Amino acid sequence: MVSPNKPPTSHAPHVVRPPTAVLTRGFDPSLSVGSARPAVFRSSTYVFSSPEAAERAFEIALGKAQPEPDESVDLIYARLSHANAEILEDQIVPLEPEARAAAVFNSGMAAISTLCFTFCAPGTSIVYTTPLYGGTQHLIHQLLEPLGIRGIPVRGSDTAALQRAIAEAEALRLVFVETPANPTLQMADIGAAVAAAPARPEPPLVAVDNTFLGPTFQHPLSLRADLAVYSATKYLSGFSDMLGGVILGRDPDLIAQLRGTRAILGNILQPDECWLLDSRLPTVSLRTNRQSKNAQRIAETIAGHQAVKRLYYPSLFDDPEQIRIRDAQCRYPGAMFSIDLYGGKPAAFEFLRRLRIARNAVSLGGVETLACHPATTTHSELSQDERRLAGITPGLVRVSVGIEDWRDILADIHQALDAAAEAGERPDAIRARLAA
Ligand SMILES: *Cc1c(COP(=O)(O)O)cnc(C)c1O
Repeated sequence: MVSPNKPPTSHAPHVVRPPTAVLTRGFDPSLSVGSARPAVFRSSTYVFSSPEAAERAFEIALGKAQPEPDESVDLIYARLSHANAEILEDQIVPLEPEARAAAVFNSGMAAISTLCFTFCAPGTSIVYTTPLYGGTQHLIHQLLEPLGIRGIPVRGSDTAALQRAIAEAEALRLVFVETPANPTLQMADIGAAVAAAPARPEPPLVAVDNTFLGPTFQHPLSLRADLAVYSATKYLSGFSDMLGGVILGRDPDLIAQLRGTRAILGNILQPDECWLLDSRLPTVSLRTNRQSKNAQRIAETIAGHQAVKRLYYPSLFDDPEQIRIRDAQCRYPGAMFSIDLYGGKPAAFEFLRRLRIARNAVSLGGVETLACHPATTTHSELSQDERRLAGITPGLVRVSVGIEDWRDILADIHQALDAAAEAGERPDAIRARLAA
């Protein structure tokens, strides 16, 4: 027993955990006229404290000089950076273990585009895992490939193929890993991708799209990835009321390069959105822990329902390789699951029509439960073959679980599944039709 009078000695007093750090680090109330929480500064331009300070600010912004450790550098113009972006970037760093710097963007896609344009020039290549978020796929095919940047797809769940692609790709600059993948939660081995990179004469950067499980349940930088990428539109902001993107890294110089591209593209997150996202950071771990617990209870209960052919959820994986990856890199299973219904598209549509609490919408990560039909919405632009490979059948519905009382969501999903079982073709009927 530890005496209650003695403070615990196992941790140095200045080292606090992420939920504490996010409330105590990176914000100086005296710079917001004493306000306990950050104020909003909507200025597009900033008044310099002196011509010398302006000259110094430009030298630093243009990369001609590095700021001294405690130097306060004047802000210039909001497309380059602004007070609320700086506050948010300082406050989000402690949420991502091992991060030392962050850059914020006006959407997840803005973050991913800026990443690719910063580190990949014409003639270079990107290895990326599949299935991949649709927007990222469009970026590679419609913008990067016409510019001469080659995209090399690898099935994320195939660890050996991922390592081979990283070893063999020509002029490889970036490995982009999205895990777990949308919508069947297939996982890619972050550590294996990281391990393959240094064998190359010019090691590529490894970036992880951590939108689904981070920053609470999966820590790419601790697994030695270079960059963690987020659509902050999802769990980070958590209320389905804003768009945002964040990239965090261990090396501040990489983040400085991203900020340089951001200033050219003009896709920095705007002051109001920075302020809003900043206010959501202290509840990220509260929300996502509750959402993951809710999802696990529901997924494990409905997996045996007669309408359910297959349930995709990390705690229900049966493939040994997927279980190995999950146990190596995920702390909790998260709040997304997908249900493959026996009755195909009619059953999936009936399921969505019958939901009373959950709403039929794309996107994810909000405090409210959402459900959608990937084959006709988020993944409708994939070819039939790509959909089949990714497990996106006509009967698949994807659910993003919120923070409601889990028993209410369970009851809602249960009654919708009962209706789906009636609506769809029954397995015995399908077998009979196929046999005929
Ligand atoms: C939503 C999402 C994105 C894109 O983010 P936006 O904020 O919509 O631009 C990228 N990756 C994943 C995994 C996503 O879910």
